[in-house]
Amino acid sequence: MTEPLLRTEGLVKRYGGLLATDNVSIDVRPGEIHALIGPNGAGKTTLIHQLTGVVAPDSGAIHFAGRDVTRLPTHARVRLGLGRSFQITSVLREFTALENVALAVQGHAGHSFRFLADARRDESLRGPARRLLEEVGLGERADTLAASLSHGEQRQLEIAMALAGDPRLLLLDEPMAGMGAEESQRLIGFLQALKQNHAMLLIEHDMDAVFQLADRITVLVYGRAIASGTPDQIRANPDVRQAYLGEEAP
Ligand code: ATP
Repeated sequence: MTEPLLRTEGLVKRYGGLLATDNVSIDVRPGEIHALIGPNGAGKTTLIHQLTGVVAPDSGAIHFAGRDVTRLPTHARVRLGLGRSFQITSVLREFTALENVALAVQGHAGHSFRFLADARRDESLRGPARRLLEEVGLGERADTLAASLSHGEQRQLEIAMALAGDPRLLLLDEPMAGMGAEESQRLIGFLQALKQNHAMLLIEHDMDAVFQLADRITVLVYGRAIASGTPDQIRANPDVRQAYLGEEAP
């Protein structure tokens, strides 16, 4: 079996008396989309924050690309290929889509000493930025101001910016949030194509999207991973149906 790209081992995070992460061990393999689902407050965001290095676990370990990254700062994890695209990101609304991605390319290329204005004109940054926009299906919107993009297009832009660092693993926090059905469907198609080169850990409330996209799903409830398996296994799991999905099959 393929060695996992990301593996957590018994992660624990407490907030006072609350176990936000209760002994969680999960893994993501290359080429795979692993979805993390669970009701509000289940601990999904807390877990992602530990993976990115924003929150330190109380105990347990995080291995990425064969290294123990548990104590590494965020930027070191990003350098190893642990990318992320958040709901709230650093998209500059008054810059075009292309300029935003060019800045992200610049950031990852270690050119941060250059002036902002340079990145927007520099062809060595605009070329790769254009390719990234095409990769996410935004090629024709390159010269549109970020503020004028539709909600779904802004999500695509954030993913293009995350891809600027060529991450081996992408952490996606609710990429479908606020999207209409048609936009979601487009993004699903795009993520399916993307997973060959970028494994993903996906947090998403849209169950249709999760069950279409995920190779494996882990269900968190009160900080604990109560089940992990293929979409079919999760659908059929009585604990999941009772604790999270109710009587209705997803
Ligand atoms: P949602 O789907 O609503 O985003 P979630 O699954 O991401 O929820 P978390 O935000 O990780 O859940 O929260 C898990 C639990 O930890 C919640 O009970 C929350 O109140 C608590 N919590 C999270 N961060 C902190 C903090 N900094 N201090 C205290 N409690 C916290």
